[in-house]
Amino acid sequence: MVLKIWGTRGSVPVPGEGTKKYGGNTPCIEVISGSDEEAIIVDAGTGIRELGNKITENPNDFKRINILLSHTHWDHIQGMPFFAPLYNEKFVVDIYSYSYNGYGLDHFIDAQMRPEFFPVNKAIFKANVTYKKLIKNEDIQLGGVQISSVATHHSRGTLAFRLNKNGKSIVYMTDNEVLYNEENGQPKLEDVLNRNKELLKFCSGCDYLIHDTMYKLDDFSDKMGWGHSNNIAAALFASAAKAKNLILFHYSPEYNDEKIDELFHETEKFIAVNNLDINCLPSHEGLEIKL
Ligand SMILES: [Zn+2]
Ligand SMILES: [Zn+2]
Repeated sequence: MVLKIWGTRGSVPVPGEGTKKYGGNTPCIEVISGSDEEAIIVDAGTGIRELGNKITENPNDFKRINILLSHTHWDHIQGMPFFAPLYNEKFVVDIYSYSYNGYGLDHFIDAQMRPEFFPVNKAIFKANVTYKKLIKNEDIQLGGVQISSVATHHSRGTLAFRLNKNGKSIVYMTDNEVLYNEENGQPKLEDVLNRNKELLKFCSGCDYLIHDTMYKLDDFSDKMGWGHSNNIAAALFASAAKAKNLILFHYSPEYNDEKIDELFHETEKFIAVNNLDINCLPSHEGLEIKL
């Protein structure tokens, strides 16, 4: 598999001089399975726009485009109406998501493209689009990749995905709050182990864990309960899950490149001081990893 990052930001796109290094687009990743001409995309933040343009330039590369959506908060679907393959009859696009309050995803794409919010509705899509519901605890297979999902500690119905192929694995876990006891201030490993059991099991031994690190620990105290994580809790979680690599992801829109450098170095230092057996790297647009 090859993992490619197209958008790294939480909440809202932040283009500009101060965000060139890590990028300003909201979440989107691509996993190239290397077989069966199937594209696998996770989340449709604004990063998906450029990816869509790349795919339409080479329309014969893929027989099918699969989009998995973690949830329908704005930052994870903002790019969907700007995904060029949807407007091209050459493409087959399957969009996977959970069902929310009994509604399938087509209901929400419909809503997103209502005339109050967008000039054209989804009937304009020329691609062969199918909306598919993910079933709890049921794996799917796409392009030779086995994909499982689990609900995260975020708004109800938010999913994390684990993609396995040939003994290699990537977990995409954003948006997620690593739970720990508020009274402790600084998260403790034991507490993280006790309060995140199901999610730790889901990530167990993965090669790459792409995890929500929206805040530095210093900025986190008044954000507890918002469904996002700080860098130190994420590092403890990754270590407890025995992940090999932690990829920092879903940065706060308030953080410029300098602040993300700080977030990264602080995380690295914490890992070194505490002898945690994980490697840590910051996500940036264009990051490509071969597994
Ligand atoms: Zn988000
Ligand atoms: Zn969210």
